[in-house]
Amino acid sequence: MTADTGEKLDLLGYDRSALEALLTQLGEKPYRAQQILKWLHHRFVDSFDEMTDISRTLRSTLAEIAEIREPRILQEKQSADGTRKWLLEARSGSAFEMVFIPEAGRGTLCVSSQVGCALDCSFCSTGKQGFNSNLGAGEIIGQVRVAVKALTAARDDRNRVVTNVVFMGMGEPLLNFDNVLPAARLMMDDLGYGISKRKVTISTAGVVPGIRRLAAHTDTALAISLHAPNDALRDTLVPINRKYPIAELLDACREYLAGLGEKRTITVEYTLLDGVNDQPVHAAQLAELLQGFACKINLIPFNPFPGSNYRRPSGISVRAFQERLVAAGYSTMVRTTRGDDIDAACGQLVGSVHDRTRRQERYRKIAGA
Ligand code: SAH
Repeated sequence: MTADTGEKLDLLGYDRSALEALLTQLGEKPYRAQQILKWLHHRFVDSFDEMTDISRTLRSTLAEIAEIREPRILQEKQSADGTRKWLLEARSGSAFEMVFIPEAGRGTLCVSSQVGCALDCSFCSTGKQGFNSNLGAGEIIGQVRVAVKALTAARDDRNRVVTNVVFMGMGEPLLNFDNVLPAARLMMDDLGYGISKRKVTISTAGVVPGIRRLAAHTDTALAISLHAPNDALRDTLVPINRKYPIAELLDACREYLAGLGEKRTITVEYTLLDGVNDQPVHAAQLAELLQGFACKINLIPFNPFPGSNYRRPSGISVRAFQERLVAAGYSTMVRTTRGDDIDAACGQLVGSVHDRTRRQERYRKIAGA
């Protein structure tokens, strides 16, 4: 408990086991956690007073030591294709983004795990913003709560609008492991948002120790941002490759799959950059690299942003790349660009990051601004 530091506990971020532990510490029966979770994540209360099946004493103790605080909406935009984007306020004072993508039969929420990102992949606009801070577990699960509330205001199938969550917003989820894990557990818990473990996807640029830790603690779906079929090229696009090269990354994924004890696949994300990694030779190398690796390939045509030097390949060359992989036996999808009229497409999320790394300054200098 952090009550002695004057800071209140961020109750939204407590998963079932953490809440049970807290209640036990308070001398309460652990099953009270179930009641509290329903109030927080099914009925969306904002105060302990509203938890009417909890004793007054416990309510006032909780009000003293804890708070219910979801991220505040600063701005909301809706794309012509139905995609919605919210700008949310982080505790640190910076702002971050969240996107909802409706499709026939499913609704995918793309959540952020950090304000900014420390990894600086060369084609990602979040990276260019530099890094500010980790989001807390409550700020991560709070995004799902904010979205479900906003999307279900006029309907009664409250929890079923968000069917999938992907950690593909701002930040590198595996560099904020301790907050991402409880949030992911709450997404999957029936007393939270009841989303199937196959539909909560953690996407990583390749933080190998994080993948190993993930394997020890949960069984969500895993996506890796590969973007290149060899280390020399990947080093230039995804700098963390210099620390954890492709072979190590794929090994960690194989271990992750082996530990699940059921047949699952890894999603391989591959952003296509015109003339950089989209040539026939790259498709051939990729097909060879991934031989025997249980995966689905997701091709993402590059989404441009101000100041980026890359170009999106033509539709024809995207299709040609896809066809080469399909011919080699891989299930390969092209991720359709959604919400780019409101800058909500992959790699376009920027929020408003008070950079602590001076990276923005460096990029402005390089751009000669
Ligand atoms: N840090 C996590 C989540 C990042 S965003 C990760 O790296 O996986 C989700 C995906 O969008 C990643 O695969 C990322 O590489 C990709 N992406 C980033 N910028 C992009 C851009 N400008 N165009 C297309 N895809 C992009």
